[in-house]
Amino acid sequence: MKQNSTRAALTRLSETYIRLVLSVGGHDNDYVDAYYGPESLKGDPLPLDAIRKRGAAAIGELKTLSPTRMDEMVRLRHLYMLRQLQSLVSRVDMLLGKKMTFDEESQALYDATAPSYTEEHFREILGELDAVLPGKGAVPGRFEAYRAAFVVPGEKLDRVFTAAINESRKRTAERIALPEGESFTVEYVTGKSWSGYNWFKGNCHSLIQVNTDFPITVDRAVDLASHEGYPGHHVYNSLLETRLVRGRKWMEFTVYPLFSPQSLIAEGTANFGIEMAFPGEERVEFEREVLFPLAGIPGEGAREYYRIHGLFLKLAYAGNEAARRYLDGEFTREKAVEYLMSYALMSAERALQRTKFFDQYRSYVINYNLGQDMVKRYIEAAGGVPRRPEQRWKIFEELISSPRLPSGLLYVT
Ligand SMILES: [Zn+2]
Repeated sequence: MKQNSTRAALTRLSETYIRLVLSVGGHDNDYVDAYYGPESLKGDPLPLDAIRKRGAAAIGELKTLSPTRMDEMVRLRHLYMLRQLQSLVSRVDMLLGKKMTFDEESQALYDATAPSYTEEHFREILGELDAVLPGKGAVPGRFEAYRAAFVVPGEKLDRVFTAAINESRKRTAERIALPEGESFTVEYVTGKSWSGYNWFKGNCHSLIQVNTDFPITVDRAVDLASHEGYPGHHVYNSLLETRLVRGRKWMEFTVYPLFSPQSLIAEGTANFGIEMAFPGEERVEFEREVLFPLAGIPGEGAREYYRIHGLFLKLAYAGNEAARRYLDGEFTREKAVEYLMSYALMSAERALQRTKFFDQYRSYVINYNLGQDMVKRYIEAAGGVPRRPEQRWKIFEELISSPRLPSGLLYVT
């Protein structure tokens, strides 16, 4: 009896959750990333104070439920709804004018805090790049000059990108039973603060947008294909839809609030998905044999390119540092641009675009690299190490088809 009433309460609260998320979306254009649930739950957004009050009431009610003896999925669902609502209330507080530091904000919204690194840490990585990059002089300029030879010409972009998506899809489908009829469309867009975006439309359909504002180097093809598509966002959203929404009638998963713990799981698994689909040497082989030729780039350079690219990726945390200091008011925009150019090796234009991403999405930046590291640690601690690919995919699949929280990744059961 108690278990049934807990289930009934969760069903009822899932509707409250959807209404509240959609209401926040009425005050914050970026908040609702996807919604494919009942039209009847749309409607005029509640005022922020009312959202806050109802959110707090729902949190209070969830805290009275204790599904400790119910099956793990129900326990995860309960915790997830609770933490997502706490994040929602924090976002409402921000919209009402509350100021938080970068770390306070990321903890409140995403259930995680990114580690800090000093310039010294990044200088060491730059030193490694200095040793392998051709030419003389400062590393940022040499890095940019080196990468120029690996830019995919505009007219070849679609072919390269399509080949990368097809391969990512094939590799994922060998490991995860993809929902029947899942599909996506690709669009090329300009004038955005991001480089790629997956808009999930429901019915296992995604619109993947690729931003062509800046030259696209060949590594972006697999990155985008795996991150936005397979086994990244498109697969994640499709599995939540088929297994949780259709399979269990857990309607709260028809809505995706962008500024919430769900995003760390989504971005972290999408980024880690690149390594899942193309582990180790397999990526270099595929790039050398398929993508480089399609892009008109000599394949012999692929191995060295990915060695250098691997070092470059270690600088991703410099992006978090720039965002933290910029949003905490320590850096002006100019200073943040300069920092990104020096330590994250971005061109001046890309660094400026990145500060606009900081303006729009704020501490969301941690979800990519911290998320990826947390997902990797979680999967490997549970035995999903590279030499056990079956176990690795099994844990990955469980992670992207169940209600997980970032704090839940810290403990492997
Ligand atoms: Zn993403």
